[in-house]
Amino acid sequence: MITHKSSRELELMRRAGRIVAEALDIMKGAIRPGLATLELDRLAEKHIRREGGIPAFKGYRGFPASICASVNEEVVHGIPGLRRLKEGDIISIDVGVQYQGYFGDAAATFPVGQIEEEAECLIRVTRRALEAGIQQTREGNFLSDISNAVQTYAESRGFSVVRNYVGHGIGSEMHEEPQVPNFGPPGRGPKLSSGMTLAIEPMVNAGTWQVDTLADEWTVVTQDGRLSAHFEHTVAIVKGCPEVLTVL
Ligand code: MG
Repeated sequence: MITHKSSRELELMRRAGRIVAEALDIMKGAIRPGLATLELDRLAEKHIRREGGIPAFKGYRGFPASICASVNEEVVHGIPGLRRLKEGDIISIDVGVQYQGYFGDAAATFPVGQIEEEAECLIRVTRRALEAGIQQTREGNFLSDISNAVQTYAESRGFSVVRNYVGHGIGSEMHEEPQVPNFGPPGRGPKLSSGMTLAIEPMVNAGTWQVDTLADEWTVVTQDGRLSAHFEHTVAIVKGCPEVLTVL
């Protein structure tokens, strides 16, 4: 069932979303060569708890950390650890926060120092693919208009979109209906209406869209070992139009 949020619920989701955005901003400022991904996780958790939130990923199906940290060919669900970032890496960070029973969820990919042109381009295209999806998140459109906008933009730039993982409804649960794929024809699925809240999250690969899961049973990597980027926002439809909730 797709739930429509009241203005009171949207207010709590804005608060959760702001904490998510602040945590990402803090981590962005800390990223440098030599930093262990576990240190990013500590910074995020400290901020989330200081703001009265709860790290939504910690303990989710047994996930051991507050953020997902996925480096280079890692697509999503990387576990923060002792791995140290190197100049030229890219790191995708995904954060979820629960605030007074409501969730915010966002992700972004950041450069570590100077990165190669292809990596730079992949990051820019993935961010713009998310923006293209957000532009379709309006009353009267169909759900798959979002999916199609993301895929069309990413593929027009020569990249591929991951099929195995998708965006989702969000609210009093981190994952609600509907699923929000990053691919497919337009004009399908439920019609969008005010009060719906969606986490839209394109994962875009430099090479093949196909992915594998590592032996840790969490980390998803590209099958060809090429780079992947991930951007996500929690978006509400308010008075017919998209409002991004995971912003500062
Ligand atoms: Mg998500």
